Amino acid sequence: STTVAEALDLIREIPGFPEPGILFRDLTPVFGDAAAFAAVIDALGEAVGDEVDLLAGVEARGFVLAAAVGYARGLGVALVRKPGKLPAVAGRVDYALEYGTATLELPVDSVRRGQRVAIVDDVLATGGTVAATAKLIEQAGATSTGVSVVLELGELGGRNLLGGLPVHALRTV
Ligand code: IMP
Repeated sequence: STTVAEALDLIREIPGFPEPGILFRDLTPVFGDAAAFAAVIDALGEAVGDEVDLLAGVEARGFVLAAAVGYARGLGVALVRKPGKLPAVAGRVDYALEYGTATLELPVDSVRRGQRVAIVDDVLATGGTVAATAKLIEQAGATSTGVSVVLELGELGGRNLLGGLPVHALRTV
């Protein structure tokens, strides 16, 4: 069987994508390897903890991870979307990117008041995506319990943007 460390060693580093000077971490080989994918999903499933009622996954790789963790743990998933995809929007948050801005939207009836929601994503970089997701969850009257990611890019200081939200990273580089 594949250990989590072996699974994470499949992550590729792609220099210069999507901009010159950026070192992109490509998780494609992890998703494509059954044993590596299972090891990562099991580890994320433990990382989200037990005090949780619902997961939140961010389009698009976050959907895949959150869906698999949700199935493994018997939890539903709120699908946080890029703008313009939803017929009925419960909340919208604009946030800053390194260049420009981005928007995330929460579907109506995806999160109920008082639910404890764990965020799942592939990579924690600047933290903007997770901070926006946590804001959507709070706006819905629910609580973010933490964020579980496969990889944290520590140099970018993403966790400092999260106001003390617990960060569970399978690996920090
Ligand atoms: P942040 O908002 O800067 O933390 O960026 C996080 C989002 O961008 C995540 O949803 C990731 O999918 C994506 N992302 C940022 N850097 C990388 C990377 O090196 N590899 C893969 N995805 C990344």
